[in-house]
Amino acid sequence: MKNSQTLYDQAVKVLPAGVNSPVRAFRSVGGTPIFMEKGEGTYLFDADGNRYLDFCGSWGPLVLGHRHPEVQAAITEVVGRGWTFGTPVKEEVALAQLVADKLDAVEMMRFVNSGTEAVMSAIRLARGTTGRDKILKFRGCYHGHVDYLLVDAGSGLATFGTAASAGVPDAFAELTALAPLDDLEGLQKLFAEIGEQIAAVVIEGVPANNGLLIQSHEYIAGLRRLCDQYGALLIFDEVLAGFRMPEVMAYAHYGVQPDLVCLGKVIGGGMPVGAYGGRAEIMHHIAPLGKVYQAGTLSGNPVAMAAGYATLKAYYEADVPAVIEKLGAYLDPRMEALLADVADLGFIRLGSLFWFYFKRAQAPRTAEAIAAESGEIYGKLHRLMLDRGIYMAPSSYEVGFLNAAMTTTELDMLLDGIKAAVEEGIVS
Ligand code: PMP
Repeated sequence: MKNSQTLYDQAVKVLPAGVNSPVRAFRSVGGTPIFMEKGEGTYLFDADGNRYLDFCGSWGPLVLGHRHPEVQAAITEVVGRGWTFGTPVKEEVALAQLVADKLDAVEMMRFVNSGTEAVMSAIRLARGTTGRDKILKFRGCYHGHVDYLLVDAGSGLATFGTAASAGVPDAFAELTALAPLDDLEGLQKLFAEIGEQIAAVVIEGVPANNGLLIQSHEYIAGLRRLCDQYGALLIFDEVLAGFRMPEVMAYAHYGVQPDLVCLGKVIGGGMPVGAYGGRAEIMHHIAPLGKVYQAGTLSGNPVAMAAGYATLKAYYEADVPAVIEKLGAYLDPRMEALLADVADLGFIRLGSLFWFYFKRAQAPRTAEAIAAESGEIYGKLHRLMLDRGIYMAPSSYEVGFLNAAMTTTELDMLLDGIKAAVEEGIVS
């Protein structure tokens, strides 16, 4: 790890904690971050030439694995002609047409540069459309680092938020109400109190940033009903869950139609892209057609658009959701057998997302149900996996990602790693 360590020593002098996004700093698992240099299929190679099986997948975009040949060719082709023009380009039309064709909840969309921007813009659009100010988000859901979405729960159901980050005025957080996951009665009470003031409810398609907190169909259906009853728009943040479900999208998994959908990660194929979209009637409120302002110097950038288009084209041609379910059919029963007598560790998977949870008989559905010891145990598991050449996200809260470049060989490596964790007494 000599080169990684040298890079890290240099990085901490010019980048806070040596990173540009906090979790990468390895603070919650211990040790120092590994600097990666190359990706190939489902493997990463670090600055010292070590190889890792990659279950992080750049935090979600790489549903096809690293350097898929068609995506690489599409990027290279555009770069050969220039990489930004500040004008409309054919690549953004192609990607928008493909998304609108495949996602029935998205008639029109606007491309932005990150998931954070997608959610921020969708909420502005919802506020501009409804003329209401308040929004509702769920405890344990992450939607990017927008001020009023970095909000902690106060006590009591209908308390409005307080800032969860320094630098966010409470006055911003006060427009955000917090709702409980997996508690339809609590949600009903909250709507009864403030439903008529709510512009939009934003929920992660499948909450996957605080563990994988899979919600029941009844809960999501109940949420849709309440939004309709009180005239609030329902925003599905599918930045992470989109193109990762057996039904492609989380809204399709739950069989509900959201008013707006936020996209990111996969839709850019690993380039910085986000998007928000929905019915044309709502999208017509965006400038210059309507009065809701939103813009971007590099939005719709041709390299990013081409990478996203090539990724989605290959995704549909290969029927990636079916490929993933085949991998799942291999992995799930083997993992279940392996963990049958292991009380400390549970495994849950939905589409290409999976998560290990600790010290619970059932997979948690709320952030509050996650065992406090999880971080400590996960730190040990993470270290063991790393020593075996397996790169998992450096936090117990983060999910793992399968990709279409994986085979049973890689799944066996994961299973062997878990077996070793049991044998070494990390979990029992
Ligand atoms: N929404 C969700 C559900 C996410 O998972 C993330 C990122 N993990 C974001 C929004 C923010 O996206 P970005 O990091 O691209 O700003």
